Amino acid sequence: MIARSRGPLSGLLLLAWLAIAPPAQAREQPEAPVAMALAISLDPQSRQLAGTARLTIQESGETELVLAAGLATTGVSIDGRPLARAAQRGGTLQRWRVPAGPPGRALSLAWRGTVAPVDREQQHRDTLGAAIAAASPEGSFLPAAAFWYPRLVQNGHPLLHSWTLTLTLPAGQKGLVPGTLADEQDSRDGYRARFDFPWPGEGIDLMAGPYRIDERSLRSSDGRMLRLRTVFAPALGPLAKDYLDSVAGYIARYEAAIGPYPFEGFSVVSSPTPTGFGMPTLTYLGESVLRLPFIRHSSLGHEVLHNWWGNGVYPDYASGNWSEGLTTFMADYAYAQDSGADKAAEMRSGWLRDLSAIPPGSAMPLREFTSRHHGASQAVGYGNAAMLFVMLRERIGRQSFEQGLRDFWQQWRFRSAGWKDLQHAFEQASGEDLGVFFEQWLRWPSAPQLRLESAGKQGSDLQVRLGQDRPAYQLDVPLRIITAQGAKDVTVRVDQPTQTLTLPGQGDATRVVLDPDARLLRRLVRGEAPPILREVLFDPRAELLVLGDQRFGTQARQLADRLLDHRPSPRLAQRPPGGAAVLVIGPDTEIDQWLIRHALPVRPPEASTGADVAMWTFRLASGKPVAVIAARDKAALEAAARPLPHYGKQSWLVIERGTVSRKGIWPVRAQAVDVEPLDR
Ligand SMILES: [Zn+2]
Repeated sequence: MIARSRGPLSGLLLLAWLAIAPPAQAREQPEAPVAMALAISLDPQSRQLAGTARLTIQESGETELVLAAGLATTGVSIDGRPLARAAQRGGTLQRWRVPAGPPGRALSLAWRGTVAPVDREQQHRDTLGAAIAAASPEGSFLPAAAFWYPRLVQNGHPLLHSWTLTLTLPAGQKGLVPGTLADEQDSRDGYRARFDFPWPGEGIDLMAGPYRIDERSLRSSDGRMLRLRTVFAPALGPLAKDYLDSVAGYIARYEAAIGPYPFEGFSVVSSPTPTGFGMPTLTYLGESVLRLPFIRHSSLGHEVLHNWWGNGVYPDYASGNWSEGLTTFMADYAYAQDSGADKAAEMRSGWLRDLSAIPPGSAMPLREFTSRHHGASQAVGYGNAAMLFVMLRERIGRQSFEQGLRDFWQQWRFRSAGWKDLQHAFEQASGEDLGVFFEQWLRWPSAPQLRLESAGKQGSDLQVRLGQDRPAYQLDVPLRIITAQGAKDVTVRVDQPTQTLTLPGQGDATRVVLDPDARLLRRLVRGEAPPILREVLFDPRAELLVLGDQRFGTQARQLADRLLDHRPSPRLAQRPPGGAAVLVIGPDTEIDQWLIRHALPVRPPEASTGADVAMWTFRLASGKPVAVIAARDKAALEAAARPLPHYGKQSWLVIERGTVSRKGIWPVRAQAVDVEPLDR
């Protein structure tokens, strides 16, 4: 998963109708409240940082000048006069009060100091939101959040600023900050480059290292020449061409979908630590991450897209982070769609499973996901937000949806926008009032739990009864109507706790399936959610059945001790399982015999024999889950004891030579009912 350093740092037959809305007027480029001219030198070996800055302030209210406390300053002045008050020191920062005054004042200062060494041991999780400027000859990273350069803060928020920054590094090093490369010299005397960022930006992250640079150009959709670069550790050189081609492809794709690329270039920069950051005009990814073959086909496009959503239009964080959901929808989800309808359905099912795994009491309204960072706790929020866009596109139609996105981009480039502004853009484009839609999905605390209660035939009509908890959502519910001739998909709108919908002319239906492709954001009901190993392991009433001889049995009980949270009640092989969850451990042959004897689902092909150990799950008629662990012999079972406890989220897996070689989660099992004849 990729982190953001800042910036973003998811019963009537419906007639889709399209409205043609006039395109929003493109506004002029907004001016940043602060313009900075910076000269920075960094020596990664000694970790010495030195800088000078001149800040031109267009903001007339009172602000604070803030810099990391460990940096020594000289000549802090405003319009040539020393700032009246000395710095206040508190925690890791030093601050100066900058009194209100007319626009156009200029603040100047110089500073120097030593930044921290790079911690090579840090894991990706530690780098999330870390605000430490660190240097080493292998790579240096100075995030804006570390206040390694002076920033102006108002009411606790750093003011947006544009910059022109000259960077000086010793020979052998190269570096960059977000922006347009305006000048670059690399010689035996050292590296010197100037970067211009004339847009209102959220902050400057600085990267340096012993890089090799590869470059190609790309003509933007509005005719500019964009400079695409890989700024890689030398060992990654062979990957440069593929990365450059991929970046070019993503820029072309999103220019067509949204509008011209807002910047003059894009760089993929390697990091010696397992980082994953996105910033305007670049992404900073760990060397180990860049070597993963799938990154070019997934995370890279996500990061390129953030130049529109997140770093091109800024989320108004106070009202919720829409940019991660929209980026996930137009990148990760769109790539799944490119690979096939089944891949996209799998991703949607995954979001529904994740949502359903949260206890209802601890669910959070979408608009409260305000974080700038990816993270496990936010992953659900982003999946939900992406699903909101899936539903919205289905509701207003592809053409209106895409028009709304383009208008939103035109109107909000380089400004902060909230969910409300997105809603407005889609309403303008579609001519539909989307008030209820956004209200319920953003503000209501959880998600609907929808029940397909019954289906009946009355004459030539089909009647379908649907139920949901209060408060009732307004939902466009996909139904699959099965007839002797085949299946057809319809969408019905509901907005009541229980509702009987009449579908005229569908009386030949034999069966009705609710939302078979997981197109609706909702909590799955019992039985719909696929069984996973953990469901058995966490069930305090789960029973244990051990098959096989005594030596095998001893090993199996040890494994069960490791896996289960509680002491299980033993189950006898002769008794058919029924009202309780069961963990079954046995040798291959005896497992297969036990399944046949009790007329249970046989071993699935995914867990085919021949592996050392296979685990799979299924549900009993009572809805209770069964987890089966089938082993070739005692030694194989022993070898599986180490990896198995780490795979509780899986529905099935195969272990070979002590490692999990294949694994998976069963698809969501849709709710379905047979159509009954109704009495007249
Ligand atoms: Zn993202």
